[in-house]
Amino acid sequence: MPWTKLAATRTNAASAVCLTQPMERDDLHGTLFQLMRESEYLEVGHMLVRAPLVAGVCYLGAPPMDLGTALNNATLAAESAEPIGFFNSALQRDTLLQSRMESLQQRALERGEFHIWYQPKYDLVTRRCVGAEALVRWQSAELGFLPPGKFISFFESNGFITQLDFYNLEHVMEFQRDCKAKGLPVVPISVNQSRLHMREKGYLHRMHALVERYKAEGIELELMETAFDFGSEAIREHSLAVVTALHAMDFAIDMDDFGTGYSDLSLLNQLPLDVMKIDRSLLLASEGSERMRIVLKMMIDLGHALGMRVICEGIETEEQEALLRAVGCKYGQGFLYGRPMQRADFEAFLRAHA
Ligand code: C2E
Ligand code: MG
Ligand code: MG
Repeated sequence: MPWTKLAATRTNAASAVCLTQPMERDDLHGTLFQLMRESEYLEVGHMLVRAPLVAGVCYLGAPPMDLGTALNNATLAAESAEPIGFFNSALQRDTLLQSRMESLQQRALERGEFHIWYQPKYDLVTRRCVGAEALVRWQSAELGFLPPGKFISFFESNGFITQLDFYNLEHVMEFQRDCKAKGLPVVPISVNQSRLHMREKGYLHRMHALVERYKAEGIELELMETAFDFGSEAIREHSLAVVTALHAMDFAIDMDDFGTGYSDLSLLNQLPLDVMKIDRSLLLASEGSERMRIVLKMMIDLGHALGMRVICEGIETEEQEALLRAVGCKYGQGFLYGRPMQRADFEAFLRAHA
């Protein structure tokens, strides 16, 4: 093609590399888009197969950076491309932080730098505390204080989340045991579980060992719909079996962020779900729209009709709380009632509100 200077493909990877003529960003974007559209379909035998492409772009700059760096940068840009990504300094900062997190993660676990904060859940009518969600924070000696938004998805991509989740779960079980020993009220506490556990070898075995060790009561597991975003029928069967086994170990199962994914209603039938957690985005949408309020009400009714407890997340105002009561929601969680707090503060909160 006239705009290329040099092009190469690797035989061992589904990727191609191209050095282009000097081009403005918009021109390059248009040209690439066109090319990607044209080569999206491949003929394999008699079949037409769709093979969507992504592209990452890195400008060499002046003086030009070395080619190895440019290739790495372009690869990075391609990873977050939709479907074309340009390398920039924010991407560079992200990757720098990620590689530092990766080199520190194991030591951070050993040094106890991950902390569980507890956010209360409450009865929307009595305003008593009826439970909590455990949410992790990282107080890193090197990187400072990090909220989960900074590291959870990265730890899902490198697999470390499975270790971190076990660490968190064990701490919550310890907390429940201590509450009982100290005569504090014991309320159910939910712990988030990454979708990676669905495919983790030995997951059920380890979960069983923890149950035996702590004799923990009142632990709920929060799973997102994406945990059941199956690649194949076999994986689907396996994930359903894993959740059924967890339920049989007496873990209550919460469907987290309900209403944000595909909302595959057959999941409601196939999974032993105890709690439906309605995502904050649905609450926000209902504030401005009568039709969305009907959708919200119907979802709550559906949850109740299927024997689930229904809780809505992210309540920040009295108006939102009143709206939820009006559509029949019984439980809530949000900054209005209580922010995520450290263990000692939550113990005091429990004494006062449970
Ligand atoms: P999530 O499970 O949906 O947790 C609820 C998030 O909403 C929390 O964010 C919480 O602080 C926030 N939130 C609560 N009330 C309000 C409110 O009134 N308004 C607004 N705007 N936000 C509210 P956080 O703690 O930053 O956690 C983010 C996400 O990180 C969690 O979303 C969860 O998916 C993930 N996460 C946190 N801890 C863990 C963990 O130990 N393991 C795994 N796998 N994921 C975790
Ligand atoms: Mg959650
Ligand atoms: Mg949620």
